Amino acid sequence: MSEKFDVIVVGAGPAGTSCAYTCAKNGLKVLQIERGEYPGSKNVMGGVLYRKQMEEIIPEFWKEAPLERPVVEQRFWMMDKESTVSFGYKGLEWGKEPYNNFTVLRAPFDQWFAKKGIEQGVLLINETVVLECLTENGKVVGVRTDRPDGEVFADVVVLADGVNSLLAKQLGYHKEFRPDEVALTVMEVINLSKDKINDRFNLEDNQGCTIEIFGDSTKGNLGTAFIYTNKDSINIGVGTTLSSMIKAKLKPYDLLDYLKTHPMVRPLIEGGESAEYLAHLIPEGGYHSVPKVAGDGVLLAGDAAQLVNAIHREGSNMAMASGTMAAETIIDAKKRGDFSETSLNQYRETLYQSFIIKDLEKYKDATHTFEHYPQYFKEYVPMLNRAASKFFTVDGTPKKEKQKEIMKSFTSERGTIRMIQDMYRAWKAVK
Ligand code: FAD
Repeated sequence: MSEKFDVIVVGAGPAGTSCAYTCAKNGLKVLQIERGEYPGSKNVMGGVLYRKQMEEIIPEFWKEAPLERPVVEQRFWMMDKESTVSFGYKGLEWGKEPYNNFTVLRAPFDQWFAKKGIEQGVLLINETVVLECLTENGKVVGVRTDRPDGEVFADVVVLADGVNSLLAKQLGYHKEFRPDEVALTVMEVINLSKDKINDRFNLEDNQGCTIEIFGDSTKGNLGTAFIYTNKDSINIGVGTTLSSMIKAKLKPYDLLDYLKTHPMVRPLIEGGESAEYLAHLIPEGGYHSVPKVAGDGVLLAGDAAQLVNAIHREGSNMAMASGTMAAETIIDAKKRGDFSETSLNQYRETLYQSFIIKDLEKYKDATHTFEHYPQYFKEYVPMLNRAASKFFTVDGTPKKEKQKEIMKSFTSERGTIRMIQDMYRAWKAVK
């Protein structure tokens, strides 16, 4: 295994495969190494795949990729113990080409995507763990795997090994994550017949729905729950920052059970059979946690570089876009014959000019704000539910009086000045 490649890509998730595919398509000799039995076997995702970034890699991929449903409706619930205030958007244009996004199951999708890379010439090796990067005079020159004679060499190594990138840590690119920089999420795939899904979510066969749930889904802690419809199963999950989980002494599995039995949620999944149970970390440190992404002979992409926009649950698209940008940098570096940090910093520049870092920068203080000021999820969500109940209950009270009562109850619960401060702080965090 001591062959030399142009590129070694560690990991066969969306970041790694986008990079490997693009490099191979442009004539580079690519080795992709995946520790799982097959791509997707170790991967966890709520399941929304964004059309735009995937289409830039494989045009009209929806004609052949194993997708579940095109999402035509996105709902948001501000949930209390026995009620929910909901809003959202349903648009039938999202159910037609070129679509907006899709629900997917990662195991079939990742295998299909990796196969497309193989067709372009990627050499994919599964069931192989990369143990460390090999360096010479500070430059990464290859990797050592757990195979006998497991050293392999390349001009560039791309670390697309996911959220807990041990390899980037070994290189000193990032430290152990703080508990407020990652969310722990548990999810379950629940088999349910297509007809039941269509009835319960008001869908037709080739239409999907996503529900993001805030408030009581995490017992008022910073985090969200989600319910996504597949063809004949439902993905349901919940997560909070690790720090919230520790502080509130939450057990992730208890939280998922709590969600599944919540009166707003139970009727949607009733009668379904549990098919899979999964747990995974999500990098949520955002802008402030993005590590050094380029060094001599090495690049970091996707979750390994903390590229997740938790507010918009975007991760797979950022993984794909960053994987592609890494590939484009390597292709240019190959033309220059220069794989130094200076040359590979083209990737950093592209990344920082793209939607990825711009979006992470926009929300750079959001996680911190909502974690340190728990009133948003703990107090405002129940207050909003009480206000909606009052406003929509027909009891002969004139509407103007109702409005006044609602405003009065808001200000008496939080106090006018504190409420203004809260609103200003929240606006600043997401503006
Ligand atoms: P991964 O998909 O984690 O892939 C990394 C790969 O590297 C894995 O296959 C792993 O086995 C392999 N690997 C790791 N270490 C080694 C090693 N040493 N040697 C060899 N191989 C190695 N994003 C969305 O866009 N939409 C969603 O709805 C969504 N929901 C989510 C719900 C949950 C519960 C979670 C956990 C995440 C969710 N995300 C979502 C985020 C999204 O899943 C990630 O951002 C995305 O998968 C990152 O892709 P990646 O290729 O960087 O990493």
